Amino acid sequence: MLPADSHVHSQWSYDTFGRASMVAECERAVELGVPAVAFTEHLDFTDYGPGDAIAAMGIKPGWWDATRPLDVTGYLASIEECRHRFPSLRILSGVEAGEPHLFAGSVAAVLAEGSFDRVLGSLHALAWEGRQVNSSSLFRILAPADVMRRYLAEVAALIEGSGAFEILAHLDYPRRHWPASAGPYSEADFEEEYRAVLRALASSGRVLEVNTYSPLASVTLLGWWRGEGGTAVSFGSDAHVASRVADKFREAVAVAEAAGFGRGRDPFDFWRR
Ligand SMILES: [Zn+2]
Ligand SMILES: [Zn+2]
Repeated sequence: MLPADSHVHSQWSYDTFGRASMVAECERAVELGVPAVAFTEHLDFTDYGPGDAIAAMGIKPGWWDATRPLDVTGYLASIEECRHRFPSLRILSGVEAGEPHLFAGSVAAVLAEGSFDRVLGSLHALAWEGRQVNSSSLFRILAPADVMRRYLAEVAALIEGSGAFEILAHLDYPRRHWPASAGPYSEADFEEEYRAVLRALASSGRVLEVNTYSPLASVTLLGWWRGEGGTAVSFGSDAHVASRVADKFREAVAVAEAAGFGRGRDPFDFWRR
């Protein structure tokens, strides 16, 4: 049996632009025999509020003009509807909190509005010239290795600076846009930076996501996770459309198994060492 897909976006995520349907994604999960799906909708902020560290940092928030607030009420109503409609599927609520170390107050305010089973933490944006920008856009400005080093250093800061999330999503997100002109991406070139991220995550008892939209993590990288004390992995398709639910999960499972992780306590659990 496949593991739970703990990272799916539905019509309630602003960047699905009408392409996603929670119902269709549940249907796809049932068809594939995925035991559980977590709808982890984007939680991003274009302005700061009380208790947000970014307010005092001189960084202008908002890195994408498509960003919209999450309609918590509408979203949770859809979750309830799907739970009734798909009784054989475990449907978990959740969010993907972007830059939660910079928006602690705003994240906490949304999490207090409802019950969220899975909270992912993720980094999409980096600060550049006084404002937040999409980290991948820096490939046009900086040497590719510098972008990855900056990014991984900021992920370590995100882990140290936020206790709001349980699972670290796509730990090397800009890798998705690594320029072909820079040659093949090599995790080993950034081992030290990866290890610093993994150490911080493990020491706070949290979970590493194997994201199957990003280039798949290697057995070596998951070996670093174990070596730094990591005990659990989560599988996330990062689907923004039904056809991608649990995409590449067989490959991801093979990598996790080769690195010494296996099924957890029940079909809905993380995989554990
Ligand atoms: Zn993301
Ligand atoms: Zn996502």
